Amino acid sequence: KMNTDIGQHVLKNPGIAEQIVHKADLKQSDIVLEIGPGTGNLTAKILEKAKKVIAVELDPRMAAEVTKRFQGTPAQKRLEVILGDVMKTELPYFDVCISNTPYQISSPLTFKLLATTPAPRTCVLMFQREFALRLFAKPGDKLYSRLSVNAQMWAKIDHIMKVGKNNFKPPPLVESSVIRMVPKVPRPQINYEEWDGLLRIAFVRKNKTLRASFIGTPTIMNMLEQNYRTWCAQNDIPVEDGPVEDADGDAMDMGQEQQDEEEPVDEVMDMDDDDVPDFFKEEANARIQQALKSHPQRKKRGKVSELVREKVRQVLEDETGLADKRARMCDENEFLKMLWAFNQKGIHFN
Ligand code: SAM
Repeated sequence: KMNTDIGQHVLKNPGIAEQIVHKADLKQSDIVLEIGPGTGNLTAKILEKAKKVIAVELDPRMAAEVTKRFQGTPAQKRLEVILGDVMKTELPYFDVCISNTPYQISSPLTFKLLATTPAPRTCVLMFQREFALRLFAKPGDKLYSRLSVNAQMWAKIDHIMKVGKNNFKPPPLVESSVIRMVPKVPRPQINYEEWDGLLRIAFVRKNKTLRASFIGTPTIMNMLEQNYRTWCAQNDIPVEDGPVEDADGDAMDMGQEQQDEEEPVDEVMDMDDDDVPDFFKEEANARIQQALKSHPQRKKRGKVSELVREKVRQVLEDETGLADKRARMCDENEFLKMLWAFNQKGIHFN
């Protein structure tokens, strides 16, 4: 009996398995990683076209079954079955990844593949339709989200085909789609935590202008100020313009004692939050959530917060010209430009 808890929906339509393999454009010399071979329907098609298949399977019964299927055939020596959770397995070298992915690990698996070095030449992956649509959504599309920008930073992603539920046994509850993901070469040299930290802020309210998401959100500005102070301390840079508070703990006279009205946050996190890489998620989320939940503090702004505010303003208005743009309309290159400009000014996101 199938254990549906780990998403065991076997692809029963051989035509689809064939097309998936065809889209991977395999060479005779390729080593292919397959995640969750199940009973081996896809595995058989891959073995026809590649030098070797490394199949990672969590379920010992399935691992035994796929091993048995090829025993005594010429393909036997070209199949290596690794029993284990792919997320906890250190992956050996592979050229291409093909997978009818267990849907519960869609997001972490995607980012694990994108973090693999050397990068695979291509990955052809079956996902739940909704997840697939979000992966390749473009700026302005309804489903464009942090997941889209994040994935498209590292790879070119195309939709290959829709696959209806009835091609599986047992049929899953959701429709599926096959996508192709081709990692960018060379791999963009950016700090993932910084990058994702910036995206988190921009996508908390993806329909707001970036000006509103940053400058108009005092809690975010406080966080950036904290990060700025930390960065200054770590780099032995005097926090420009010195201390903010006098001996009594009152903010020094700033002439203009500004206060911010914080807009209510309707949707605290973007809906796709469950689908972003887990590696850094918890800590980063906790911080932003904490910042957004805490009551907007009506405090006087000190010199350092003025300085940080001015830096952020310069980045958004003067240097990138993106202040009036909304996150849902920005592509990965615009976010990258922003990140670079922020970092140049000592503004960091992790
Ligand atoms: N590839 C087969 C096919 O197309 O017929 C079966 C696909 S089925 C959707 C997913 C397979 O992944 C199951 O065999 C399941 O045991 C396996 N699996 C689930 N979670 C896994 C994990 N974390 N690591 C490796 N395999 C996993």
